[in-house]
Amino acid sequence: MNPDQTEARRRIVLREKAESQISESARVAKALPKDSVLELIHELEVHQVELELQNEELRRSQSELEGSRKKYFDLYDLAPIAYVTLDQNGLIREINLTGAELLGTERRRLNGRRFARFVAQSGQDDFHRLCRRLFESAGREEIELRLAPKERPPVDVLLSGVAIRDSEGNLNLCQVAVTDITVRKRAEERERLAAIGETAAMLAHEISNPLMGMLLNIKLLGSRLVEIGDERLMSTINKLVEETTRLNNLLRDFSNLSRRETYDLCPTLLAVIATEILDGEMSKYLSKGIRVELKFEPGLPLVLADRGKIKQALLNVCKNAEEAMPEGGTLTLRGYESEGKVILEVRDTGTGILEDFNLAEPFTTTKPFGSGLGLMIVRQIISLHHGSFSYSSEPGKGTAFFLMLPVHSAS
Ligand code: ADP
Ligand code: MG
Repeated sequence: MNPDQTEARRRIVLREKAESQISESARVAKALPKDSVLELIHELEVHQVELELQNEELRRSQSELEGSRKKYFDLYDLAPIAYVTLDQNGLIREINLTGAELLGTERRRLNGRRFARFVAQSGQDDFHRLCRRLFESAGREEIELRLAPKERPPVDVLLSGVAIRDSEGNLNLCQVAVTDITVRKRAEERERLAAIGETAAMLAHEISNPLMGMLLNIKLLGSRLVEIGDERLMSTINKLVEETTRLNNLLRDFSNLSRRETYDLCPTLLAVIATEILDGEMSKYLSKGIRVELKFEPGLPLVLADRGKIKQALLNVCKNAEEAMPEGGTLTLRGYESEGKVILEVRDTGTGILEDFNLAEPFTTTKPFGSGLGLMIVRQIISLHHGSFSYSSEPGKGTAFFLMLPVHSAS
């Protein structure tokens, strides 16, 4: 017999069974008095309504259950903070999706893993102490530490845990909420650095005033000694003047770098700033044999700039160019537009910069009176204008610095 025939045969048997049962109950019903039959029908109808009501109740419970499950999913799995349940050995027993995301691992791979594996080395001791305290005290415990998820940047977190009792009243598990506090930590770090910067600027200011006084007095002393004509003393005084001048320059640049300032940005034509600088410096350039060229594209767009600050940045770059041409040369200031940026190019025909010279390193200088902070100041000013800064140089031939600022969109 093939499967179709088997199925047909099975149906025939079922039908015969059902018909024999109905005929049996019909036979019983026929034998009953009429009143009893009517009573039976009533009973059956009541029973049917009861069943329908129960069915309705069941459907409502089921939909409530689904609602609760969805609520649980939203509240637990998609909660804005991570939840993890740990046992006494520090093994993960349950974790929500936010937690799995924070640890950078699929949830199904986390069950039974040691949570400590995701804690940065610096936080290991603190984490183990937290687990111990949680099970000992049965109270709420909190610590801040750093997580080091696999192939992800580290995250600073606040762990806030509480031990939970099982049905026999034993403290076997603990629930830990893990909140990402990286943004807050960074802000705190920035605040701390800014406070250090401000203190440093104040300190620089405090030192700079008496230093200035010392420099004046040493120079005065020097001019008196010239009259006496003591060579050895004169050479000592000259060294003192050099060193004090160097310290003064260092302090001036350092206070510029560390001071926290608000920028007063307004639409600005860079050509105007360049001209102002050249006007102020021209006589000095002439006396040093430096020829100056100013080449600005006509109709150059405006940039949003703090004029004083941009002037300071450009002056620093021009000063470096001047110092790189002790025998004279040509200083060219060009301004042009490229890819939504206004580029200010400062080119000299000076000594050039050696290839292995690291300009990004502060206090790097090749000058006897240099602070090595001038270009750091330029970088800071330009980056606070959302611009960028680069250079190209050829030893013995010259250097070009490029200050790039975004075009002011309203221009
Ligand atoms: P400082 O001028 O006080 O030394 P800067 O940060 O302004 O500090 O410059 C760092 C160093 O970069 C200089 O000492 C110099 O060696 C080099 N440098 C910067 N600009 C030029 C330039 N135009 N030509 C040659 N070297 C330069
Ligand atoms: Mg300089």
